[in-house]
Amino acid sequence: MVPHNDPAKQPAHVAPVLAGFEIPTPHGPALASSLLGLTRPTENMVTVPTDGPPRKPALLAAFLESDRTITLDIPRDNRLEAAAKLIESSLVGEATKSIRLACALFLNIAADFYQVGRPDVRVLAARPIRSREGGWATELFGDYDPETKLIRVWMRTAMRKQITSFGTFFSTVCHEFCHHLDYQRFRYGESWHTRGFYERTAALYHHARGTPAKRLVWLRMSGRRWRIDWARTNRGS
Ligand SMILES: [Zn+2]
Repeated sequence: MVPHNDPAKQPAHVAPVLAGFEIPTPHGPALASSLLGLTRPTENMVTVPTDGPPRKPALLAAFLESDRTITLDIPRDNRLEAAAKLIESSLVGEATKSIRLACALFLNIAADFYQVGRPDVRVLAARPIRSREGGWATELFGDYDPETKLIRVWMRTAMRKQITSFGTFFSTVCHEFCHHLDYQRFRYGESWHTRGFYERTAALYHHARGTPAKRLVWLRMSGRRWRIDWARTNRGS
């Protein structure tokens, strides 16, 4: 795992955005909120494709398993929903400590349900911006370190330092937790942004928000990657 304080290196699992546009990066991260369909993407939004299959043959079986595992067990009660509501109300108060506590509660309940170790969580202020070639900049929404099992989420936008919307914030929490599950529950040995990964993340997110999960419709791209067909996904066809 790369050190977090080295801006030249990309953490393994990040969710960047370019001024409201999603952009692909070498590891294929994505803005989880739009991929979950909780916000209707703007016309300009470019959906990040899934990661392509790994080159190492030893990892391919796990990648394919991740890709086809499109369901995730969810509790039959509302324990996650209640914890998610606490995150939502804590964001209103904008106090880092209570937001972190609410996130930790949600993650602990989820970890116990999935019978994995509890991840640590850190809630940070304004999203870091990374400069890229050509003057592009990306914002970091969250990341997960499989070595330390630490989830980091940012609560403020990079530019205006506004509090992140609950939908974006919470989908980032779910996204990073699903990376944790990939390592700790499914034992994939890596965690890729496969179609299955996004389906599992969506299942967790919609369950915890009490919203109906949409069936994600996928479009094939080059390089054995996929992206969501938003028009068809939103139509429910
Ligand atoms: Zn990710």
